Amino acid sequence: MRSSKCFEAKAKLFAQFLRIADVRKWKGDRFCCLLLYISIYRVRVLFQAIVCFQRGHKRGMRGNMDRNTPIIELKGVGEKTQKLFAKLNLYSVGDLLAFYPRDYEHFREPVSIDHAGPGEVCAVRAAVAGIPNEKRVRNLHILNVNVSDGTGSLQLTFFNMPFLKKTLKQGGCYIFRGNIQTRGNFKLMEQPRVYSPEEYGKRTDRLVPRYSLTKGLTNQAVQKAVKQALSLCPAEEEYYGKDFLHDYDLMGAEDALHAIHFPENMEQLMKARQRLVFDEFFAFLLLMRRNKEFSDRMENGHPMFETADTVRFLEQLPFPLTRAQKRVWGEIREDLGSPYCMNRLVQGDVGSGKTVLALLALLMTAANGYQGALMAPTEVLAAQHFETISAYAEKGRLVLRPVLLVGSMTAKEKKEAYAKIASGEANLIIGTHALIQGRVEYKSLALVVTDEQHRFGVRQREQLAEKGHKPHILVMSATPIPRTLAIILYGDLHISVVDELPANRLPIRNCVVNTSYRTKAYEFIEKEVRAGRQAYVICPQVEEGELEDLENVVDYAEKLRGRLSPDIQVTYLHGKMRPADKNRIMEEFAAGEIDVLVSTTVIEVGINVPNATVMMVENAERFGLAQLHQLRGRVGRGEHQSYCIFVSTKENKETMERLQILNQSNDGFFIASQDLKLRGPGDLFGIRQSGDFAFRIGDIYNDAAVLQKASAAIDALLQRDPMLDAPGHEALRKHLEYVSANSVDFRTI
Ligand code: ADP
Ligand code: MG
Repeated sequence: MRSSKCFEAKAKLFAQFLRIADVRKWKGDRFCCLLLYISIYRVRVLFQAIVCFQRGHKRGMRGNMDRNTPIIELKGVGEKTQKLFAKLNLYSVGDLLAFYPRDYEHFREPVSIDHAGPGEVCAVRAAVAGIPNEKRVRNLHILNVNVSDGTGSLQLTFFNMPFLKKTLKQGGCYIFRGNIQTRGNFKLMEQPRVYSPEEYGKRTDRLVPRYSLTKGLTNQAVQKAVKQALSLCPAEEEYYGKDFLHDYDLMGAEDALHAIHFPENMEQLMKARQRLVFDEFFAFLLLMRRNKEFSDRMENGHPMFETADTVRFLEQLPFPLTRAQKRVWGEIREDLGSPYCMNRLVQGDVGSGKTVLALLALLMTAANGYQGALMAPTEVLAAQHFETISAYAEKGRLVLRPVLLVGSMTAKEKKEAYAKIASGEANLIIGTHALIQGRVEYKSLALVVTDEQHRFGVRQREQLAEKGHKPHILVMSATPIPRTLAIILYGDLHISVVDELPANRLPIRNCVVNTSYRTKAYEFIEKEVRAGRQAYVICPQVEEGELEDLENVVDYAEKLRGRLSPDIQVTYLHGKMRPADKNRIMEEFAAGEIDVLVSTTVIEVGINVPNATVMMVENAERFGLAQLHQLRGRVGRGEHQSYCIFVSTKENKETMERLQILNQSNDGFFIASQDLKLRGPGDLFGIRQSGDFAFRIGDIYNDAAVLQKASAAIDALLQRDPMLDAPGHEALRKHLEYVSANSVDFRTI
């Protein structure tokens, strides 16, 4: 009875709480109140239980989640999304955190229509003038809307967004953000994003990260996943000491990681980026310095003498060596015969003829009864070297017995190659990183040449050296690096420079144009193809959707087929294709079976097809000038006049001026340094000067100062604690171990 009384009292209170005005009215109906109370009480208990469960669950996740947690454990990431992430080589939460944005969308203050320049993404605040006009073209719904702001008017076009007809009311004021185009006196914006002034106000001056995507994965989805990873993953341990951070003016690790993904402003972003670039250089240089083998002078275990083979080879070459080539060959020859092991970097601009030098060194090695290996960064390039060298060897009846070893070969082919290498039947082994994989046993490896080597990490170099009991090392690079940086990056390598191009070269003719020139460019390509030549067209991305507004090779190739005569063979090539397919396409292009090759910058490294005379680069504004210079080096390699067409979608003065630098000089380093002078630091995001070094975020040109700072920091650190075993350095050691285990970072684009 008591308990029922108690319930009754509580029910009364409850009824009061619900502000039921006349409690007395309820008196007679005790039973009803009782039921109501009990049911509400139950809901409350249930609700509390859910809250507790959720909290517990979250706490559990927080505890369990770390950098190695698979991405699928994140909320909103199912199997389908997981597969899309895997396409980008992102498997764990740690991978995701280190997947830095490709660039940032800057929501600037709106501009007036008369100030909105063509080719620029901007926001305008304008009122809808007139009634939207809609039409249908096949499956496409097109909505045209005129807007004006008193300084001018703008025509907006929306595709397949019929609902906007109701939203955009005549006289209504909105912010429209998109790419401005001009047609005659008209200004247009296609598919702009629409915001209310309040909504836009909240975003103004914010930097929104944009990630490299793959079809099916939206930028929003990546943002969400990264945000979760940042909040659930335990804070990163700071591996530099307080003084160190202060001395080198560095942001904390955890702050930097947050700010690189979601910066509050440009200043914070710059600081965050600096820290991450510093880390990358620091780890790379420190690992390299610890790699004592390369810095100590080692005894020459494979002394060599010059034989008649190289002399005869030089006599058979269809051209004389340039003076620079002769000088460098002299240096290499001397090294191979000296009391010390060779450790030499040959630097020379694209087309300066470095392959011949590699070949001479490999020939001398074979003639002395040893084995030599030539390692290239891509299978395409390895296959190309194999073809050229086999042809030379056969024609000149050289002592070279080359064999190719690349990852895409069948197990049987590989086995045959391994046998030939182990028995010494092959004395020149050409390949990719397959050359350093566990199964390969060399009989007497005495020389390793790496072409465009910087794409191989320190680790790979180490592994290869282990195989051959300290072979001579010859490194070829087309990246023009000033001496001071080269010394930092390559440690104690001796440096030779091939600073002269073969005399028979006709200078390449360049032009920088806007997109309206495309039709003419296609006519020109057609004319060149009719004359028996070939052409490259470069697009910045592989497939649609990675970044908006940029050309992609897959669609572009399709478009181009429609624009050129049907008998012209157009094919595309990109780094995400299967290696065997890439090789086949490159072979067909080299054999002249393909006339026009639409490609990403995968073509940038070392490809040699002297019959190609046109290089057309789409979205040229997206590339660093040093990189464009490398691309230009793919043409002008034969006797025919060659041409470069740089197409820019941005028509503003600065962009055009920047691209014009390519006309002024043929010196890669001059070009890169001029490029830097013309830009503010904020302009550098999303533009890489050098696609060569396999750094994730650092760029040796843009970040030369940071590179020097990291090098100085290491000097100071190692002076105090050479083995890094002082008590304060545990976290740093742990970090380096993590980095060295994860350092293989081949480019995929
Ligand atoms: P890179 O330095 O970019 O690797 P390559 O070695 O591929 O350049 O050489 C580019 C082209 O120049 C090749 O077709 C090669 O046969 C040719 N070549 C190399 N040396 C000379 C020379 N001394 N005179 C004329 N042509 C040369
Ligand atoms: Mg080369």
